[in-house]
Amino acid sequence: MSGSIPFLKQVNRAFDEAAALIELPNGLARQIREANSVYQISFPVARDNGNIEVIDAWRCEHSHHRLPSKGGIRFSMLVNEDEIRALAALMTFKCAVVDVPFGGAKGGIKIDRREYSDAELERITRRYTYELASKSFIGPGIDVPAPDYGTGSREMGWIMSTYRALCTGELNAEACVTGKPVGGGGIRGRTEATGRGVFFGVREACGIKEDMKPLGLSTGLADKRVIVQGLGNVGSHTARFLAQGGASIVAVAEYEGAVHNPSGLDVEALIEHRRETGSVLDFPGATNLSVSAEALELDCDILVPAALENQITADNAPRIQARIIAEGANGPTTADASAILRERGVMVLPDMYLNAGGVTVSYFEWAKNLSHIRFGRMQKRAEQESHRRLLDAVEKASGAQFSDLEKDDLTQGSGEEQLVNSGLEETMLGAYHEIREIQKNFGDKADLRIAALVSAIQKIAVTYRQLGIFP
Ligand code: NAD
Repeated sequence: MSGSIPFLKQVNRAFDEAAALIELPNGLARQIREANSVYQISFPVARDNGNIEVIDAWRCEHSHHRLPSKGGIRFSMLVNEDEIRALAALMTFKCAVVDVPFGGAKGGIKIDRREYSDAELERITRRYTYELASKSFIGPGIDVPAPDYGTGSREMGWIMSTYRALCTGELNAEACVTGKPVGGGGIRGRTEATGRGVFFGVREACGIKEDMKPLGLSTGLADKRVIVQGLGNVGSHTARFLAQGGASIVAVAEYEGAVHNPSGLDVEALIEHRRETGSVLDFPGATNLSVSAEALELDCDILVPAALENQITADNAPRIQARIIAEGANGPTTADASAILRERGVMVLPDMYLNAGGVTVSYFEWAKNLSHIRFGRMQKRAEQESHRRLLDAVEKASGAQFSDLEKDDLTQGSGEEQLVNSGLEETMLGAYHEIREIQKNFGDKADLRIAALVSAIQKIAVTYRQLGIFP
């Protein structure tokens, strides 16, 4: 079964398919494909009960063609070296697809976060950071982690403060990690960035009539029926933005089970319900599904896997009813499943494009940290003033009068959040059209995943050429 093929092998299979479509100098495909360095660590951590536990963890820097390298840190029992290498490779390609000037990396700690107290998680995170720092696997110009599965802004704050304590006086220490709390050097809009990026990508794809027609779908998001797997950071924000955009979330799958309502679920209320009860199950008005994975096969237009890799396999791909798979998670569709879906004419919006919103806004956060000034701080008031003068002139020339509400709305200057969101939107839209063009040029030879890889390989090849390393 395809699910049992190692994750890295699956990523490499798609990479090789893409590399075969373009002419590259000898050895360059291999240079881009292989990981530069992997650090495996086992370190002891004291549990609250006094026992000492040895924890396994990894950090892989897949590519140094641009520095720093960048990629999340996950806490999961499924973490192993193969997974971290595969995810690091995806990060290299993702950064290239959206023109974020980083190499790819990924880190993982093999723990089930639910089994540890907050104090234990803090000790583990700080010790991991110490280990990374001691081998130069972290730093604003070296390797910059971010949140991923099982981690969030709290863990990033711990990483930053540990690194800063180890590198006293380093002016740019805050830029050693992104996804930090806003008050601790983070940036507005980072927490929801991946979900917002997924929304922008799906909205853009659904807005193209020529592409929706062969799928048998109408243009636009309105009334699109969506199933989301995973109600964590990526899944919950994606569901929220898609619902705000007019789509109907008909099912949500979590690890404890799934809920289904063909008339649509109230996403905010469901998130609240899970917060209160610890489960999506028994949500008023919805039907429970005890086997969570069955939700992936329900009737819908768009399926958003936003949990983990290997969810859509050769086994269930023939039964998936969605016409669009929007990969919020990394690697949710196996290589064999991709082939089946391509055969069946299902559109797959690939991970290395669709979930790039997180790393895009992480890039903004890193740049903000290095510049030591909040975006918009210098120009917000100047913009407001200039807009106000323009409105005054329009009023004078036309004799019309704007209401105070209209004036406030029209004279707004751009603050950090607006700038971040507009930079994210620009990035997601631009990259979509780039990979769509490439896909159209290759026709049957490439789906959007292969097209995204072609885009990434071509851009990385240019960097190697400009560095004089390859002809
Ligand atoms: P998260 O830990 O916030 O949420 C993951 C959710 O998936 C959790 O609620 C978990 O209970 C649920 N889940 C686990 N196993 C499941 C299963 N078998 N069925 C249904 N639900 C299940 O993690 P996240 O940050 O949202 O990451 C999710 C995916 O998105 C990962 O593949 C990650 O690599 C990818 N991703 C995350 C970011 C980011 O900015 N956080 C960026 C890009 C990609």
